[in-house]
Amino acid sequence: MEDCIFCKIAAQQLPSAKVYEDEQFSVFMDINPVGKGHCLLIPKTHHEDVFTIPEDLLRDLIVVAKRLAKAIKTGMNADGMYIWQANGRAAGQLIPHYHMHFLPRWEDDKLTIGSWEPVAGNMDEIQAVAEEIKKGF
Ligand code: 5GP
Ligand code: ZN
Repeated sequence: MEDCIFCKIAAQQLPSAKVYEDEQFSVFMDINPVGKGHCLLIPKTHHEDVFTIPEDLLRDLIVVAKRLAKAIKTGMNADGMYIWQANGRAAGQLIPHYHMHFLPRWEDDKLTIGSWEPVAGNMDEIQAVAEEIKKGF
């Protein structure tokens, strides 16, 4: 898809703090992190949402999701992992390219997740966290 931000990130036409990639998937840090370690898993091919993504691809994606969750947990010494995925504008999906959110959680992080406004993160900090997660793979 020509004007899709995530297609461009997958094709390296836009920069991102990349955590992992293979033939089918790419993982990179969210540019407006809800909390430390917030990252996104996407298929490299463009599919808008859960309604249109092929089942075979989704099967492979969930295996990478499990590996990523373990890598973040190990790399960041997290206590838990919040994973979510929005489909359609009504559900709050801002980027119409299927993606899964990962947010490590700690017992005492006092984070309240609800509706939020995007707030730009500090890129040096985000890049440093990407390196921490990579160690867990
Ligand atoms: P959605 O609401 O569609 O589930 O989430 C889209 C996510 O993509 C948001 O958390 C937003 O911060 C993130 N995002 C939007 N544009 C960019 C970008 O250019 N680079 C990165 N790394 N993340 C982005
Ligand atoms: Zn796309």
